[in-house]
Amino acid sequence: MADTTTAELAPGRLFIGGEWQDAASGKTFETRNPATGEVLARVAEGDAADVDRAVRAARAAFESGPWREMDGRKRGRLLWAIADGLEARADELARLETLDNGKPVREARMFDVEGAIECFRYYAGWADKIEGEVLPIPGPYLNYTRREPVGVCGQIIPWNYPLQMAAWKVAPALACGNTVVLKPAEQTPLTALELARVAHEAGLPAGVLNVVTGYGPTAGAALVRHPEVDKIAFTGSTEVGRHIQREAAGTLKRVSLELGGKSPNLVLADADLEAAARGAASAIFYNTGQACTAGSRLLVEEKVHDELLEKLLKRAAGMRPGDPLDPKCRMGPLVSQEQLDRVMGYIETGKAEGGAPVLGGDRPEGAGGGYFLNPTIFDRVSPEATIAREEIFGPVLAVSTFADVDEAVAIANRSVYGLAAAVWTQDVKQAHRVAHALRAGTVWVNMYHTLDVGSPFGGYKESGYGRELGRYALDLYTQVKSVWVNLA
Ligand code: NAP
Ligand code: MG
Repeated sequence: MADTTTAELAPGRLFIGGEWQDAASGKTFETRNPATGEVLARVAEGDAADVDRAVRAARAAFESGPWREMDGRKRGRLLWAIADGLEARADELARLETLDNGKPVREARMFDVEGAIECFRYYAGWADKIEGEVLPIPGPYLNYTRREPVGVCGQIIPWNYPLQMAAWKVAPALACGNTVVLKPAEQTPLTALELARVAHEAGLPAGVLNVVTGYGPTAGAALVRHPEVDKIAFTGSTEVGRHIQREAAGTLKRVSLELGGKSPNLVLADADLEAAARGAASAIFYNTGQACTAGSRLLVEEKVHDELLEKLLKRAAGMRPGDPLDPKCRMGPLVSQEQLDRVMGYIETGKAEGGAPVLGGDRPEGAGGGYFLNPTIFDRVSPEATIAREEIFGPVLAVSTFADVDEAVAIANRSVYGLAAAVWTQDVKQAHRVAHALRAGTVWVNMYHTLDVGSPFGGYKESGYGRELGRYALDLYTQVKSVWVNLA
């Protein structure tokens, strides 16, 4: 592949009211290629002034633009055209995602870009099916409900699945007739800008989708506080989610939060251990562990611990991080120096609390300026240890054991998080019992990490609230109006 020049990359400007604009301050910031540490592009540093401009564009498009009058079927066709636009540029987008985020290009193409395309197609189908109900009320009345858009939606997304997170947020919001101001993560702003370009080329009216790149505490915070924003949808850390909920209270915005996790992966003694080992490896090492659903706690029934660990170590030892632009690469670097430092900090904490990694814990040779880290496994970790409780967001697995299923479920549920969980067993009754007992928004049985745009996704407990994907996302992006008609 040819070297990348910034010329082939996104314009690096804000997309507001259907136009590419510089930040009012004229400032820019850099985004780096995590595989080399080199600067990839400079992007406009939007702040409160730019957010205000974008919100006003979104408000105008919502109140008086052609969007408001457009029927659902036509909105659906526009969403479908966006999906076509993404598909036409799928390879280029995958490469851009890899350059900006560091994930293996094969996965960027197969999952991230494909997932974004599917998401726009799926919600294209919903756009003309946002239905109300007629309710049987006593008296001479006709009473019916309408599902109306919420208005201007501020959407703030993280860096781990940049294009896919943008699609999960933008597609249902637009399907329901809202307008959007999207703030991508500072580490990975490029594919969100490309999405804006594709949407514009597909014919989305000006102001319906605006993208403001910039930093969380400035651009993100301004969006959360802005009185003309009706709803905030956020994916990211629990800490920032908590802050956003507090800040949004000032203007009583609707808020939905998809936050962190420390997802337990339970292996019962009767499981197919080969499959469980394969699943456990992908549960924690997929996306270099930078997944909110990462299976970062492996809970194994004591009597199969040694056998499972041996199989897992064999698999994990073969997973060498490498150049993510190589189509054969299965594991890329972490997203940033900051994230690498954070994860290394947790490895040090794991050691300080008495553990020694049975695998990894170090950086691969020849990592150069890239943020690479070897797959890391700590064995026989106390469920109370820091690395078994806190979200690390890196390729670091904590293995613990249990004596019986009740203990397994108790340990699994002893967490402030509740995003996802998995259980491996061949006993169908046990599988369902455990699936029902686990307090998590997603539970996998004999599998891990599978998601689909048709199925709801979101957290229990401090992993957030609100469900994205499926028809559930329509609840996030509509409000119900009850209309009464006097028939007397
Ligand atoms: P983060 O700070 O929560 O970032 C998520 C998004 O929120 C980014 O767009 C960020 O902007 C923005 N943001 C930050 N502060 C904000 C504020 N005060 N007001 C409004 N928006 C704000 O996550 P991070 O710092 O990138 O990563 C830290 C840790 O969060 C990770 O190590 C991981 O544990 C967790 N995390 C979880 C998920 C998930 O999917 N659950 C995703 C990413 C990270 P900027 O990036 O521009 O600051
Ligand atoms: Mg970057």
